Amino acid sequence: MQALLDHRQLYRLPWSLPDNSISWLEPTAACNLACFGCYRANDPKNHKSLELIDHELDVFTRLRTADGISVAGGDPLCHPEIVSIVANISNRDIKPILNTNGLALSRELLGELKQAGLWGLTLHIDSKQNRPGWKNKSEIETNDLRLEFAELIAGVGDLSCSFNSTVYEDTLPEVPDLVEWAHNHIDIVNVMVFIAFRAGLVGHDLQYHLGGNDIELDTVYSTTEFGRYDIQSTEVLATVQERFPDFQPSAYLNGTARPDSFKWLLTGRIGTKEKIYGYVGPKFMELAQTTHHLRRGRYLAYAHPRTLRHGRSMMLLSAVDPGVAGAAGAWLRTLLTRPDRALGRAHFQSIMMIQPVDMLPDGRQDMCDSCPDQTVWQDRLVWSCRLEEPLQYGDFLSTRPIDRSESGGH
Ligand code: SF4
Repeated sequence: MQALLDHRQLYRLPWSLPDNSISWLEPTAACNLACFGCYRANDPKNHKSLELIDHELDVFTRLRTADGISVAGGDPLCHPEIVSIVANISNRDIKPILNTNGLALSRELLGELKQAGLWGLTLHIDSKQNRPGWKNKSEIETNDLRLEFAELIAGVGDLSCSFNSTVYEDTLPEVPDLVEWAHNHIDIVNVMVFIAFRAGLVGHDLQYHLGGNDIELDTVYSTTEFGRYDIQSTEVLATVQERFPDFQPSAYLNGTARPDSFKWLLTGRIGTKEKIYGYVGPKFMELAQTTHHLRRGRYLAYAHPRTLRHGRSMMLLSAVDPGVAGAAGAWLRTLLTRPDRALGRAHFQSIMMIQPVDMLPDGRQDMCDSCPDQTVWQDRLVWSCRLEEPLQYGDFLSTRPIDRSESGGH
């Protein structure tokens, strides 16, 4: 089931290759988990030196304006100098965001990282991570672990708190439960991200090649396990809307091959733990991005948690955004019946659905247009989701349809 969306009714996020909201730094290829859906080969000894990381940050500075840098990996907490790396980014007046599984996180380390300038964390948590103590748990059961981290981050304070999880065919039905869990903790959870699982399309009707030479994908994210690898963001949306019919995205990023594919689908909502007052519309998103760019010269990534607590002030934008006006109306109605609830803090929370690379039947590759997760490879900006290709083959692979009639076919 797919949600019907018209991209012309949504705000196309204004990001581009040289002027984006975020960039993606990989200081290490080492990881302390082995998540099923990971697209990077784990290399426990492969930490980049501080000199190389400094150089990569210089490359970002030269080639790309960004509000924040996602520090990923591997798991960035495996890098022995992670505190210095965070400080280096912060000293460049860029928000450092750690993308981590959290396994190596302690309250003490979090305090040190915050001292070094850490802006926030995106915790990757899902049920297919082979995580000690959490094997064979459902996504719903795994919410207990999410809450542990959310409370740890809230305890340290003034840090942005996001969660992302890979969505598989069998966990797709649980996404609404995670959306509901995020609502129940809207005061301490700022962002939830759902990333549709992808894998190399081994055994399908596409041939990978590089410079005219055919490549058999055997080591790069190639698997036929765990069902589908073509879940669309509109399917994730439809699954959520089935439970929450009001749930309405307002912004998107299209694909490089298909202008009407929703590679990033962003929903913003205003509410309290008891009630979601409403979903902001495209004008609100446009205002948030453009005013930040006017003030700071860069597009917004990861608003500060203190700002996100001002949901009621955001309702003052009702005149420009019908979605916000709807939220303000719901708040006013609550004020009449439950003033005790309505006068408490209202929070803003983002829910993102991401649909990574799609290999189209004609051989074109539909990537995220204006990819926010560009990383540095050989002083170039490249897609982080496909970094294993240049690392293993020397460059990104192309695809073409296999002509079954020539090869004898099926
Ligand atoms: S193209 Fe790949 S790296 Fe870039 S945003 Fe999409 S999934 Fe992420």
